[in-house]
Amino acid sequence: MSKFLCDRMLGKLATWLRLFGYDTLYAGDLEVEGDEDFFLINEFRDRILLTRDKELYNRAKGLRPVFLIKSDRLEGQLRELKALGIRFELKMDRCSVCNTPLRKPTREEALEVMKREGIKEDLAEKFDLWYCERCKKLYWMGGHWKNMKRFLNELERDN
Ligand SMILES: [Zn+2]
Repeated sequence: MSKFLCDRMLGKLATWLRLFGYDTLYAGDLEVEGDEDFFLINEFRDRILLTRDKELYNRAKGLRPVFLIKSDRLEGQLRELKALGIRFELKMDRCSVCNTPLRKPTREEALEVMKREGIKEDLAEKFDLWYCERCKKLYWMGGHWKNMKRFLNELERDN
């Protein structure tokens, strides 16, 4: 399964790749000292660098795996990724915020998050829950999940 490194202009795309289960780093989350272009060209070479910067793309080509994204809209960007064989399948594999693999929460962890965020306690009875131990965040396939599915279905249909 491909792994990715997204440049600073592709934060939204990074979020979606994580929702599809792909291990994806986002330049905006990394502590880059000095020249970011140099960093993106030379680090994490086991990942495909996704960039909207044509100059960066030309410099990185031949030195590391790199793919140029042309669209400035998320829908267009996702379609372009089809060339890389990306599958638009939502998975509860990783945190969309920080890329950490998700796991099932303990009862205590779930209750702690629900209390903090004012979520009703029957959430745990209605849905399977997943947990990011780094963000201390719960995930479940609720209304937000359905909206994302609809968005993806429309995207496939417009193709
Ligand atoms: Zn997280």
